[in-house]
Amino acid sequence: MNHDIYLDANATSPVLPEALAAAVEAMQANYGNPSSSHATGLRAKAILDATRARARRVLGAGPGRLLFTSGATEGIHTAVLSALCAVRERRAAGDVCGDLLLYGATEHKAVPESLAHWNRLLGTGLTLRAVPVDADGRHRMDVLRELAPRAAMLCTMAANNETGVVSDLDAIARVLKDLGSRAYWLVDCVQALGKLPLHLADTRIDYAPFSGHKLYAPKGIGMLYVRDGAPYTPLITGGGQEDGQRSGTENMAGIAALGAVLKALEDGATFRNHDQLAAMRARVVHALREAFPGIVFNARFETTLPTTINFAVPGLPARELLDLFDAAGMRVSAGSACSAAKAAPSYVLEAMGVPDWQASGAVRLSFGPLADEAFIDAACARIRRCGQAMRGMPLASNAAPAGQAGVARFSSDGRHGWLVLDHEAGECVAIDPPPALAGRMADAIRRHGLRLVAALATHADAEGAEARAALRVALGMDGADPGPLGWPAHVADDAANDALVVGRQRLRRLPGIGADHAMYLLDAPRLVFAGDLAGHAFGAGAVPADAILCHRADVDGAAWTRPGAAVMDEARQLQQDALERFLRTHGDALVVDVREAFEAEAGALHLLGRETRNLPLSRLAEHLEHLLAAPQRPLVFICRSGNRSARAALCLQRLGHPHAWTVVGGIALVG
Ligand code: PLP
Repeated sequence: MNHDIYLDANATSPVLPEALAAAVEAMQANYGNPSSSHATGLRAKAILDATRARARRVLGAGPGRLLFTSGATEGIHTAVLSALCAVRERRAAGDVCGDLLLYGATEHKAVPESLAHWNRLLGTGLTLRAVPVDADGRHRMDVLRELAPRAAMLCTMAANNETGVVSDLDAIARVLKDLGSRAYWLVDCVQALGKLPLHLADTRIDYAPFSGHKLYAPKGIGMLYVRDGAPYTPLITGGGQEDGQRSGTENMAGIAALGAVLKALEDGATFRNHDQLAAMRARVVHALREAFPGIVFNARFETTLPTTINFAVPGLPARELLDLFDAAGMRVSAGSACSAAKAAPSYVLEAMGVPDWQASGAVRLSFGPLADEAFIDAACARIRRCGQAMRGMPLASNAAPAGQAGVARFSSDGRHGWLVLDHEAGECVAIDPPPALAGRMADAIRRHGLRLVAALATHADAEGAEARAALRVALGMDGADPGPLGWPAHVADDAANDALVVGRQRLRRLPGIGADHAMYLLDAPRLVFAGDLAGHAFGAGAVPADAILCHRADVDGAAWTRPGAAVMDEARQLQQDALERFLRTHGDALVVDVREAFEAEAGALHLLGRETRNLPLSRLAEHLEHLLAAPQRPLVFICRSGNRSARAALCLQRLGHPHAWTVVGGIALVG
């Protein structure tokens, strides 16, 4: 698996080879300052002029201004500053300009942030108001019609970066025209360049910012179109470059590279056209449907860019899908702002009213118009491989050490549910399923043909009872709780055999604190499912001193603790540059890949020629005893980004292992 399949083109793109060559030439042969009057400067000036002329043609800029910026964010700020300065002047002259700054609810954050910033700095005192979108992600024209008469400025995007939804700019223009609106209109065209036809001077659009790095030019170069006659105030003054519209020595490498991209757009042969891209999307969508039955697409294909696919898979959080794709060498992104610990649902999808699980489980896959059939073939093949890995894996592949029960952990946002299972016997017991994860646990149980013997709780509370009922119902069982803690009556009645049998294993009930609480002790590995109680809270003797406690919510940031174990805040870290030497000097070190089994299946991990052992974080509980039994053998945990490995190392450290390490930055940096 050596070639990355880069499917995150809406975030940024690689640089077109011709653009790279043009940038190098602008830095080596034609390195002049375009303001210099000697020949070297004039050569640079010629590149600048040629690029601007091309840009004018490609964008249909007519007599409008076309200036180079550092990117779209600068273009947006320049446009907003220009419009608000004009509003301020017009108001001072007694003109009525409206009291609203309107922007689409799904705009890139650069837009509302820029509106708020300049409104505050200029003291214009206008009110920011989001124009809602419908279920397809398109602006609500009825609301726009209602608010437009009060608008001093309107900001809408040509196409959305998360969903690819293409705005109905003609309909917006009609509303503005019908109402005789004098609002300044900004259209963020970042995602439109190279994918949608643009004839800006034929439209009512006042400002249109662009960003080079979304279409094969380097980062740090952009363009701003300003309609002829629309107000303009420079954001940056100084040496008077760009006819005084944007001072500062021009980014000539970026401009030359952008020129090469614009040339490719003009020649019409380098990039795929809309129909070709739509056919490619159809192939990718087909592969996704095969790989993930039940997949839901978050926007209609009829009204989205053919290069953006936003989807969610029931029962699979975005983070897991990202990990899976990443393991298969496919670079995609969460459709939402997603940190390792917590996935914040996308505000774009929320604005469209998609169900919560779809918004927080959203994944965005985007490619650029340079894609070819071979690339799409490779992407589809990897998607299918991910589907196979996913179907086979989660519980079955990673068999527990001989004679031991399997223990799987299901976690989300610091809450944990546990599954004690025996594949041979086809049995499992669920403990403390969190409400948000009951569906996933049911899925896993069903997929692996297990029979749920009991759904237990450590605490008798309403939320837990609801989740356990949901789990039983999802598995087609009677939803009624056998008791407040879910302990089956036949076991409770049989005093001689007060243990729940899960295949070869016994799960015993330990006295908890009061009648509303219980703990469960598993024979091997010796784990105690303790709910919210940490070691110090136990009555004397109830819990074996060497047992590992498994919690239903993080205790000091960990799912596992040990009675009386020290709390530490940081895992021992191995920096990438020290890794090789460490492994050389510690020949006996065990390198543990804590990625999930389906990730390991999608792409095996090689670490500097060392064999690695895949012990997924979610299955670590069943291996803890074993790992702790060899305290002198260094453990080097690794995962994709260094997050999960840090948790694993910290956990082992807290449980008393003196040589547990995490590789900072994960395999993403090891290469
Ligand atoms: N607008 C949209 C729709 C975008 O996708 C982006 C980039 O993420 C921006 C604006 C900001 O562009 P830049 O990175 O050039 O400042």
